[in-house]
Amino acid sequence: MQSEQNSKIIMMDSLEAASIQTLTGWVDRQGRFWGNDEYQARWCGATHRKCKNKPDEHPIHVINGYCEECHNESRQAKFVEMERALWAGEPLVIFDSDQYFFDIESLADYCWENSVLPGELQLLVCEPNYPPEFDIEQHCEEIIPDGGDIYDLPQQILDAADALNKAIRESEPVSWCGGEKAAIVSDDILTDEQKAEITAKRSAKDGVNHE
Ligand SMILES: [Zn+2]
Repeated sequence: MQSEQNSKIIMMDSLEAASIQTLTGWVDRQGRFWGNDEYQARWCGATHRKCKNKPDEHPIHVINGYCEECHNESRQAKFVEMERALWAGEPLVIFDSDQYFFDIESLADYCWENSVLPGELQLLVCEPNYPPEFDIEQHCEEIIPDGGDIYDLPQQILDAADALNKAIRESEPVSWCGGEKAAIVSDDILTDEQKAEITAKRSAKDGVNHE
């Protein structure tokens, strides 16, 4: 049943159909009208904004980006909270970077080039990555007949899958990635000579900076 209002006829050219009104609302820099939504209008019209956590301390950042200082602070806090483990020779990676060390020599070279001591680097113990095991059931799930199971597959295929998984389990790591533990690395992995060189390089650099 239609209401009386819905069934009433309004002609296109009648006064009732439409009228000119004055609207008040927020308009962004590009001229888009946002009604009462001041925030959205400002968001669309601006290029930069202040940091929401420390507006007076941190630099401004692009409107659709994030505050890098806050990001760094939160990453540093994460590193500080990490469990620490004495380094036992595993590959290492500098926290939040792609700088890996697979032997002491490369770590020593890095320290020399950057004038830092090993203990000053934020190093993570790396975890090994192995190939995932092959799941024959999942691989064949769509072709196994209703009510059937993987034992309907030819025995040679099942044996080959077992052999593949055995090889995977017995394999060496394929790659390494930063784990959840910070590595405690002693400066004594360097020789006294190496340490002295780094310290000398550093004081020379400090001297230049202070001029
Ligand atoms: Zn910030």
